Amino acid sequence: MRNLAIDAERLWGEIMETAAIGGTPKGGVCRLTLTDLDRQVRDWFKARAEELGCRVTVDDMGAMFARREGTANVPPIAFGSHLDTQPTGGKFDGVLGVLAALETLRTLVEAGYETYAPIEVVNWTNEEGSRFAPAMVSSGVFAKVIEKDWAQSRQDRDGMTFAAALDAIGYRGKERCGEHPLSAFFELHIEQGPILEAEGKDIGVVTGVQAMRWYEVTIAGQDAHTGATPMHLRKNALLGAARMVDAVDAVGRMHPPGVATVGRIENRPNSPNVVPGEVFFMIDLRHPDGAALDEMEKGVRAALPEVCAPLGLTFTEQRIWEQPAVRFNADCVAAVRRAAELSGYSARDVVSGAGHDAAYISRVAPSAMIFIPCLGGISHNEAEFSSKEQCAKGAQVLLQAVLDCDRQLAERGGSGKDAR
Ligand SMILES: [Zn+2]
Repeated sequence: MRNLAIDAERLWGEIMETAAIGGTPKGGVCRLTLTDLDRQVRDWFKARAEELGCRVTVDDMGAMFARREGTANVPPIAFGSHLDTQPTGGKFDGVLGVLAALETLRTLVEAGYETYAPIEVVNWTNEEGSRFAPAMVSSGVFAKVIEKDWAQSRQDRDGMTFAAALDAIGYRGKERCGEHPLSAFFELHIEQGPILEAEGKDIGVVTGVQAMRWYEVTIAGQDAHTGATPMHLRKNALLGAARMVDAVDAVGRMHPPGVATVGRIENRPNSPNVVPGEVFFMIDLRHPDGAALDEMEKGVRAALPEVCAPLGLTFTEQRIWEQPAVRFNADCVAAVRRAAELSGYSARDVVSGAGHDAAYISRVAPSAMIFIPCLGGISHNEAEFSSKEQCAKGAQVLLQAVLDCDRQLAERGGSGKDAR
């Protein structure tokens, strides 16, 4: 398959073309899910796919599937990402994965290359979650992690439901979300972090998505006059919180590659001459391995009484959210690794720090992801940038990975039994 090559200029041209739909003066994109701008980019995508001879179907969560038939009657190999953006989003987050898949499909069509499995380019609805929370909602329903009725009843700030917004742009399809078996799913995405750039690697072979947990903590002491209360008689909740910020940081450092952060803190009453009587803060713990994350949680929970008791403080703590670790399918990950090698690109394994549609899809189909570097690791920002060359390398790896997966399916005789 060495001779099949995606067209870097054409891919770049389409990234710039779609970036104009919702383009911002600062060079970013504001294209919130299920708005009229989203309809425009969906119409654009549908027209391009149909020009290539694809049949485009839409499910009742608005996810779009552009299909090119294969020679066998097996579930399709799907690849794609999302076309919606953050309010101050960039040109690449999500869009790259859909347009690179489209470019890959175009390359196959132009070469007259017939795949064994059908090939489908997917656009998942509302990955970002900024207009309707939560994020990754259509892939979540597709994977049966999120209830469809609940997802469709989510409201935006103006009180419009997700279902009404789907109808308003004409993208509530007939197909029932989740009743669409896949042989495999691949997602190309910008890294949204600094590792690949720092190490000068072309490609991140994404082996999984790390487990994440959030906690709410309140430390209570006693409000007191700063001038009149001697040091040894204080119950300073902020001092306890400060020691906890340090303890949480230490827990992260003790469990590499885990990360542990206090990112939000509220000091009460937050007055210059009051010893703080109460502090609320949140802890974010992440690790690729669930068992290691358990250890991190134990570390934090052990630190709380150790910090609070000597200072005369009390505390409450609650885990309010958790996402288990995702380990992508070994065959799909190997296909990505071989694709990078075959293309002559430098690569390293990475674990995604952020959530993605592929994390949900991996529950119902063998899945993997490909990362490319982005400038300074910056994303969810109008300044988000990956070069034409970087985008092309990602698309080329996507092409080769999908063909590798297709050959594996063909060798196994294509019963389609791997699709669940
Ligand atoms: Zn994204």
